[in-house]
This record gives sequence, structure tokens and C-alpha cells, in this order.
Amino acid sequence: MPSERKEFEATAKMKGVMGKYFTDLCAGGEQGRKTAWCSSVGPAELLVALGFNVYFPENHGAMLGASRMASDLIPLANARGFSPDICSYLTSDVGAYLKGVSPLQKMKLPGPPKADVLVFNTNQCRDVKDWFQFYAREWHVPCVGIHTPRSIGEVDETIVKDVASQTEALVAPLERVAGAKLDIDRLREVIVLSRKCTGLWKAVLDTAANVPAPLTFFDGTIQMGPAVVLRGTHPAIDYYELLLAELKQRIADGLAAVEGEKFRIYWEGMPVWGKVRDLSTQFAELKTAVVASTYCNSWVFEALDAADPFAGMARAYSSIFICRSEDMKEKYIERMAAKYRIDGVLYHDAKTCPNNSNNRYQMPQRLQQKLGKPYLVVNGDLNDLRLYSEEQTRTSIQAFVEQLSEG
Ligand code: SF4
Repeated sequence: MPSERKEFEATAKMKGVMGKYFTDLCAGGEQGRKTAWCSSVGPAELLVALGFNVYFPENHGAMLGASRMASDLIPLANARGFSPDICSYLTSDVGAYLKGVSPLQKMKLPGPPKADVLVFNTNQCRDVKDWFQFYAREWHVPCVGIHTPRSIGEVDETIVKDVASQTEALVAPLERVAGAKLDIDRLREVIVLSRKCTGLWKAVLDTAANVPAPLTFFDGTIQMGPAVVLRGTHPAIDYYELLLAELKQRIADGLAAVEGEKFRIYWEGMPVWGKVRDLSTQFAELKTAVVASTYCNSWVFEALDAADPFAGMARAYSSIFICRSEDMKEKYIERMAAKYRIDGVLYHDAKTCPNNSNNRYQMPQRLQQKLGKPYLVVNGDLNDLRLYSEEQTRTSIQAFVEQLSEG
């Protein structure tokens, strides 16, 4: 039975693109480039335009999860006063720092570069700020950021003005660290590239609306790397053009990511990084394609606007799912369910990320009523596999798919 993920030809190229990103990143410090750490939905375009070496610690957190290093590292951060209940990206990353280990070392790289400045946006959670402040205290470097409101309904002008002015206020302190003045034309250029990358990434994800889907959520968690760490640069655009062409070809050839696709699922919440391959295999065996997710779509920033750089960034980064109201989130999932023709919704309740777990305030029940589709809640975590039961999850996924076949 074909149950393994069908690899993309483009993936070999992606490994090269990501490898070069990490090599340049680690070399950057030695070449005298200043390094800025940026939260994953922080103002990356501004940092790229200022010439920083831009590093995304959440990407490192995901690598610690995917390499299954995280669970052993988290207790080191716990021993330093970070609760086991808070973000396991934070605790595994701090644990890795304390122990001096990193998945980057498997690539013969020294590990994450030290920050000259850390830049957060609390649009996603407070944890990123607390995480960055640990390193700011450790290395005596500045930590600056944007405090975006949470639970946003409409992204109106008041919010855009507030967030845009907070972003503009970062320019002076960042210029001081960079030792360079911001060139507004360079910022516009980076925004054009970032907007293009976003459009291509969305087009990649949109191909899964096809029946059968040419890629799954599990593929997406691997393919999203360049959209996260290289937005605003040419290599990300080149890569997604290549991947999109391959996906279109898969559609033309009738090639399904899950052979014999029978059911289509929406994944709400974080990936379980250490179990991506196992879950992908199980769903493939059950002829069920996980066709869409909130998570992979979190790097679609359609409001970026080179004509109005700061307002565009403010609108884009305040429009992401995670900082929206329950009503807006529900409407979003309703639209996704229709677009991707889903048969059911899986909610991952990630113990250490309440911000990305949307099953806790009755949303599954409300959406079930609206959509008339069943749901499943899987208890687990993004990185801490001690909070994930393999057996229980396998059994409940199997029972859920049986339920779909009866419906
Ligand atoms: S959104 Fe969740 S996983 Fe991401 S940094 Fe915040 S707490 Fe951690």
C-alpha cells in the first residue's frame, strides 16, 4: 500500500536554498553583518531592508521539535524558571542554548548566531517577547517590538495607525544597531519581493483545493521554510515558482498526494513537529488527505503594500488568524471548509500553545453546527512529545475516519 509521502522534485532545490540561508546566516556575524532575531510574524521586511542578517528563532524551535531533540532540552529551561506550561518552542530553544546544542550542528554549522538586536511582534503571543527578553538580558543587547492588539474583529484604521506608528518607531533604534540609515526605496523593493513570495505561497497552498489534492498539510509544513525565513528575497520567489509549476503538473497528471483520496480534512492548530511523518503516513493509509490548515496559511500577508510600506505591514501583520476574534476565526474556517471541500476538522490542542489551540472555547461545537461536519480534538503539543500519546492519537484518528465513512 503506498503510504509514504510523495516527495516533490523541487524539495532537493529547497534543501539547497535553506542550506544556503543557514550557512549565510551563521557566516554573517563573522563577516561583520549585524544579526537581528525576528519573531515569525514580525517586521522582517524592515530588517531585511536595513541589511540585517535575519534569524527566526521559531524556525529553530520547529527544527528542535522535528529532530525530536526538544523533549530532552525543555527540562533545562524549566530548571531556570521557565514553566513547563509555557511555549515549548521557547523552552526547547532556551534549553538548547543552555546545553550548547542545535540541529544546525548536523549541517556542520555552529548554531544560531548571537543577536545584536531582537525584534518581536506580540500579534501571535506574549511568549515571543518573554523569549527574546531572556536573550537580551543574557547578551546585553536591545529587545524592541510591536504590541499588537489581540482578538481583533475588523482591522480598522485605528489599529493600522497604531501598529504602523509602533513599527516606524523601531526605525531609529534599529538604525543605531545596523549602523545604517533606512532607505525607503529599498524597503519598498523588499516589500514587493515579500508580497510576491506571499502570493506564490498562497497559490501553492491553493492547489490543494483540487480534488484530489496534489499536496497535504504535512507537505506544507516542510515546504513553508522559505516563506518564513526568506520572505523579501529572490531565492524564496524562485523556489515557489518552481514548486508551483510542479504542483500544476501534478494536477494536470491527476497525481494525488494521497493515492486513492477518499476524505479531506482541515487541520486547525500547530503541527506536532516530532510526528509529522508518522501522521502523514497514517492519514495516507486511511486514504485521507489533510488538505488545508490555519497554520500554513499564517504566512500569507496579502495586505503588504509597497506604496504605503508601514501601513501595509501593519495591516498585513494584524490580519493574521491568530490575533483575530473568535467570530473572524470562525468565518475564516467556514470559508476554508467550503473552498477545500473538507469532510471534517481536526483540532490540535497544543498544551503549551493556547494561542494556537482553538478548541478550548467551544469553537468545534459551534463550527460543527454551522458546517454540519464532524470534528476531532487531538491532545498533544508542538514540541513536547511527553504531552502526546501516540497510541491514543492513532486510535482516535482511525475512529474519526471510520466516522467519516459512515457519514
Ligand atoms: S504562538 Fe504558540 S508556539 Fe508560537 S511562539 Fe507563541 S506560544 Fe510559542
